[in-house]
Amino acid sequence: MDKNKDFSEWYTWILKEAELVDIRYNVKGFPVIRPWAFSVMKKIYSAYEDELDRNGHSPMQFPAVIPESNLNKEKEHIKGFEDAVFWIEKAGMNRLEERLALRPTSETAIYPMYALWINGISDLPLKLYQSGTVWRYETKATRPLIRVREIQWIETHCCFATKEGAEAQIIEDKAIAETIIGDVLGIPFLFFQRPKWDKFPGADNTYAADSLMPDGKVLQIATTHMLGQNFSKPFEVKFSDSDGKEKYVWQTCYGPGMSRIFAALISHYGDDKGIVYHYQFSPIQVVVVPIYKGENKAKIDNYAAGIMRVLKENDIRAYYDNSNNTPGFKYNRWELKGIPIRIEVGEREIDANKVVIVYRDTREKKTTELESVANDVSQAGKEMFERMKSAVFENMRNSIDKSEDMDDIGKKLDLGKIIKIPFCSMEMEGEPCYEQIKDKLKAEVRGTLFGSEEKPKSKKCAICGKEAHEYAYVARQY
Ligand SMILES: [Zn+2]
Repeated sequence: MDKNKDFSEWYTWILKEAELVDIRYNVKGFPVIRPWAFSVMKKIYSAYEDELDRNGHSPMQFPAVIPESNLNKEKEHIKGFEDAVFWIEKAGMNRLEERLALRPTSETAIYPMYALWINGISDLPLKLYQSGTVWRYETKATRPLIRVREIQWIETHCCFATKEGAEAQIIEDKAIAETIIGDVLGIPFLFFQRPKWDKFPGADNTYAADSLMPDGKVLQIATTHMLGQNFSKPFEVKFSDSDGKEKYVWQTCYGPGMSRIFAALISHYGDDKGIVYHYQFSPIQVVVVPIYKGENKAKIDNYAAGIMRVLKENDIRAYYDNSNNTPGFKYNRWELKGIPIRIEVGEREIDANKVVIVYRDTREKKTTELESVANDVSQAGKEMFERMKSAVFENMRNSIDKSEDMDDIGKKLDLGKIIKIPFCSMEMEGEPCYEQIKDKLKAEVRGTLFGSEEKPKSKKCAICGKEAHEYAYVARQY
């Protein structure tokens, strides 16, 4: 399947053929995540959870249902989510006295409890997270793992005594994304402050990680929100400060989307033959394929068993495919499913006491000694990931362009780029420039680069020609 020619078709193909997602479940927008995907997602979850723990967060688990009265407490929040909520109105034969929302996000479940848990300054900062599912009635066309009605994610909810504490958390959230999504998983992204018209309902500001997918559209894979005191006031999350005064806490929340991160991973690390799983995260790291010839089955099986034993003793996830299929069939199958390393065992290798390692990305072969096979396999796996990661990151860097002219922006968007433009205002929805980008270029203003102090000096807005105040990034999006 030609990934560069038609990415969308490739994506549908890979989900089905590599047995990642099954869209035949009979509720629209609720695909089933199969073991070959979920075992990787579980590893991504745990990498993220460990990094949150290292940064002083603790895990928790809240109920999936939220009473309607909670949801209604923060006005902008409910306005932003009312079209997206799944409601439970009946239980058994009884109509519920109060409707329950299946959580679309958990602020309004968690903060009434925070009001009970937080009393004094010594209770702060409070940094908790949960890994789980939220439900949103998505009305746009759904797409497995990317736009669905049941979303796998982690959500953190943090409280601080001061605004500065909350601001520092946004920086930490970005750093955690850089470590896990960027370094460990090898998914490049830009971290934006979203325009005012695109913030989380109820937040003062929203920041988000956008990864540019192979078809030139950006995918939002994590968001973090400065909630200020917008929720702590209606939910009365207060503490008595060291000066004896009662104050409302400052809050942030952070949501890395696990299924979207996974979607970005397979999209960046896939090719025409299938997925190329990251060595550290692949459900199976090595597949051993015997090349039988004539009557040598027992000899080959015996030699392969020795290799398998060494790999397993070294905690390498290995699988011996001695099924009745031809070697060629097996190569194709495991290349499709993304196993990073293949070992081929034939008569020649046995006679020389050698092992042949095949890299999934280049399909290059390397002959190595039996006694060093475990070390050589891990080495090859890591080397392969680093090689691919540099290419993926370079691709992203090459896809960031700049422009000051509307027609030129359109041309560059058609090439699948993210364009940096001088822009007039990030404040209000309905700005003519925002509308023009949407209508004429079929693109969105993704925001300003978070942490960048760079401002346009005596430049004109690329859209309206008035004075530019910001550098905005424009892209097409999922
Ligand atoms: Zn403008």
